[in-house]
Amino acid sequence: MAKRIGIDVGGTNVKIALVDDGKIIYSNSVPTYAKMGYEYTVNNIKQAIKDLMKETNTETKDIQGIGFDFPGQVDCKTGVVKLAPNIPGWVNVPIAQMIEEEFHIPTRIDNDVRCAALGELKFGAGRGCENFICITVGTGIGSGIVINGKVVRGASNAAGELGHIKLQMNGGPICGCGDTGCLEAFASGPSIVAMAQDYIKGGKSTKFREMAAAEGGEITPYMVAKAAEAGDPVAKRIFEIVGEYIGIGLTSVINLLNPEKVIIGGGVAEAGDLLFDPIRRTIKERAMVVAGEAVEIVPAELGNSAGVIGASMLIDA
Ligand code: ADP
Repeated sequence: MAKRIGIDVGGTNVKIALVDDGKIIYSNSVPTYAKMGYEYTVNNIKQAIKDLMKETNTETKDIQGIGFDFPGQVDCKTGVVKLAPNIPGWVNVPIAQMIEEEFHIPTRIDNDVRCAALGELKFGAGRGCENFICITVGTGIGSGIVINGKVVRGASNAAGELGHIKLQMNGGPICGCGDTGCLEAFASGPSIVAMAQDYIKGGKSTKFREMAAAEGGEITPYMVAKAAEAGDPVAKRIFEIVGEYIGIGLTSVINLLNPEKVIIGGGVAEAGDLLFDPIRRTIKERAMVVAGEAVEIVPAELGNSAGVIGASMLIDA
C-alpha cells in the first residue's frame, strides 16, 4: 500500500502523520491559532507537510493522497470546510483545492467521526465488518455509519448525528443544536457534570465533590468515573443513567440498521465497563430480538490516532 498523509485539525493543534498500511511512520503537529485567520493555519499546515516530506525522504510520487479530518460540517465532494464551530474563521474554506494546488497530490476531507469510523473499518475494531456504527462520547455525541463496507454520508454530508436522536417528545434538556430532548443533552460529558452538580445540590455526599474540591476546580466526567470506580454509589448511579440513555438511543439505530458492531470511543468511553455494562444491558432488554442478538458493543481501538489514520484512508473511501 502506498503511503498517505492524514491531517487531524482540532481547535488547538493540527496533527499531521505519514501513514503506511495503517501504521503512523512519522508525525508532527502545529498549533491551529484560529484567531490568526485560516490562511495562517493553512500556511503552517503546508510547511508541516513539506517538513514531513523532507524528514522522511518522501517525494510527491510516493504519496497516494492527503486526507483531512475536521470537527465540523464539510462538503466531501468539493473539499470545502463549511463550518467548524471550535475553529473560528473556518467558513467555506476550499482546503482540498488549496492543498492540491500546492502539492499536486489528491486531497479529500471529511468530518472527525466519519474519519474515525473509516480508521476503525480499515485497521481497528471494525476490520472485517460490513455494517457497523462508530460512536464517540465526549463533549458531544457523534457517529460514523458504515453500511455494506462504505461510510455513509447522506444527501448533504450530514448523516450520523446520533447525538440528536430525540429521547423526549416535549421539553427536556436544551441541546447545543437548539432543540430539546436530544440524546446528547442527556448523556454527553457536560450532562454527566450537570447531573453530578444536581446530586450535590440535592445534598448527597459524594466522592467526586471531594475530588473537585481537592483540585480546586470543576467536576469532570473523569472524576465521576474515578469516584464510581472507588465505589461511590452516586457516581455509579450517574453512569448507569447515562449508559441507559445511550443504550436507548443505540437501540433505535440497531433496530434500523441491524449492524454487526457498535464501536464506542471518545474520552467518556474511557470509563469502560461503568459505561459499557448499562449500554449492553439496555440494548439486550430493549432492541428487537434478531438485531439485538446480532450486535456486539465494543470499545474503539485506534484512540487518539483514529483521526489521522482514518483521514489518510479518505482517498479511496
Ligand atoms: P472532545 O469531545 O472535547 O473531543 P474527548 O472525547 O477527548 O473530548 O472527551 C473528553 C472528556 O472525557 C472529558 O470531559 C473528560 O473528563 C472525559 N474523560 C476522560 N477520561 C475519562 C474516563 N476515564 N472516564 C470518564 N470520562 C473520562
